[in-house]
Amino acid sequence: MCKVYHEVIRVSTARQFDLIDITEYVEEAVRKSGIKNGLCLVFAPHATAAIIANEREYGLLQDILSFIRELTQPSRDWKHNAIDDNAHAHIGSAIIGAERMFPVVDGKLARGTWQNIFLVEMDGPRSVRNVIIIVIGS
Ligand code: ZN
Repeated sequence: MCKVYHEVIRVSTARQFDLIDITEYVEEAVRKSGIKNGLCLVFAPHATAAIIANEREYGLLQDILSFIRELTQPSRDWKHNAIDDNAHAHIGSAIIGAERMFPVVDGKLARGTWQNIFLVEMDGPRSVRNVIIIVIGS
């Protein structure tokens, strides 16, 4: 019998480019779901944010944000900036992706030791960013 568990978490971001560790929320959602084996989708319903899984090491987090800033070029003369000054954030979201999928094995989120889950903010600060968590399985 397949079950589906749904939860929305809300986080705030403090800077234009920011990484918010949401690992605990995702693992808690998997626990609450009661699902033993299946998949966990982590999805940010935003066009200017993304989801990644990587190591929570302070220097690396700064490196990732530096790279995203260089990649997306916020100061470039993007056409979208004529109506909304955040083209770089849309491009970052499009490239990095607004979701990540994880296995659920034996009732736990299966992730590497150095794979924490982060919301990537590229158009902050924002008082509210939503993350939808769906756990599906049996
Ligand atoms: Zn925009």
